[in-house]
Amino acid sequence: MPRLLLLLPSTTYRTTAFVEAARRIGVELTVASERPSTLEAANPAGLLTLDFQNPERAADEARAFARQHPIDAVIGVDDDSAVVAAAVAERLRLKGNPLTAALAARDKHRQRKLLAAAHVPVPGFALHHLNEDAREIAKQVVYPCVLKPLRLSASRGVIRAHDPATFVAAHARLAGLLAGCDTEFLVEDFVPGYEVALEGLLLNRRLHVLALFDKPDPLDGPFFEETIYVTPSSAPAGLQKAIAQCAERAARALGLAEGPVHAELRYNDRGPWLIELAARPIGGRCSAVLRFGDGVSLEELILRHALGMPIPSLEREAVAAGVMMIPIPGAGVLREVRGVVESKAVPLVEDVQITAHPGERLVPFPEGSRYPGFIFARGQTPAAVEAALREAHRRLTFELAVS
Ligand code: ADP
Repeated sequence: MPRLLLLLPSTTYRTTAFVEAARRIGVELTVASERPSTLEAANPAGLLTLDFQNPERAADEARAFARQHPIDAVIGVDDDSAVVAAAVAERLRLKGNPLTAALAARDKHRQRKLLAAAHVPVPGFALHHLNEDAREIAKQVVYPCVLKPLRLSASRGVIRAHDPATFVAAHARLAGLLAGCDTEFLVEDFVPGYEVALEGLLLNRRLHVLALFDKPDPLDGPFFEETIYVTPSSAPAGLQKAIAQCAERAARALGLAEGPVHAELRYNDRGPWLIELAARPIGGRCSAVLRFGDGVSLEELILRHALGMPIPSLEREAVAAGVMMIPIPGAGVLREVRGVVESKAVPLVEDVQITAHPGERLVPFPEGSRYPGFIFARGQTPAAVEAALREAHRRLTFELAVS
């Protein structure tokens, strides 16, 4: 039986979906995390600790492990573990991305530079240091603009400014968020337009689009909290093709070769714009919205591809599907969520998963980014799915203790 090394950060939501997919296809599984598990000694072939902060060292550790337990494929599940997976794949000569490509995808500035050099349409951008005088930068930039950290994700710290005063305020907020972590940030031109998310799989450098999601709620800032994703997209076929080509050119410019990609793009009267491309699958619990062929999960596709096993179908099912990342209802400690039963009863709604637990502190954007839960729906049309998600959300009440 082949052995899969699955890199699972200890805080991820992705464990169940990936472990279930591994079980379904019947592989020996080694789960590596950045924190030692107390069960590791009892299960030395199944559990491993790797230094996720140091991909080269993690690759050495994986190579030592593979001498005892040969590894056939390695998979990361988020931005950081995708970089470690690339390092391990290179070291063990497994299918994967070059480490330089995974690092370029992970760093927003490096990504922008490579894409601009390859003439992929990206917003104008400039790198700044937090210790520069914000009022001086504010005089030079073109408005509206977007300030963003280089290495965070899920829109954390991404802030739109429309004049020097809002720029200086955004800068102060970003400085607070990045205190002690990072000293650089990007200032970009704000790209107006509609936003889509593309879920894809790179097969020997060719991008196969698994799903294109519309984001029906406008994402105009000042913060960029995601809400609804619904697929298929209602963008015209020609535009969808241009969007896919733009994403494929971006993946190529970064040097990515194999495995999942998740890209955010905008489009307006000048065509598609690449906002970001990540070498990992869609985050949170959202992947449950995707089913392929006769019900195969996204995680199973990813595992099969990494292991070189046959993939029954790369075609998403025929119905429309959508997920709502439930908006963070405010700042405070979650006391209770009411209306879950009523929310699940909405026609077309398949599931309502509340991931925040009572006692958890909810932190709104831009400092926070942890959605309190997810709503899933399927139906005949994207519009019907979207309406069901909104109705299910309307039936939920989040009780917070504001402190
Ligand atoms: P993250 O990796 O944290 O999600 P992104 O660069 O993808 O950061 O930005 C998050 C969101 O912010 C995007 O999905 C988009 O809605 C918005 N955004 C980011 N940059 C721009 C830009 N230059 N113009 C318009 N919107 C932007």
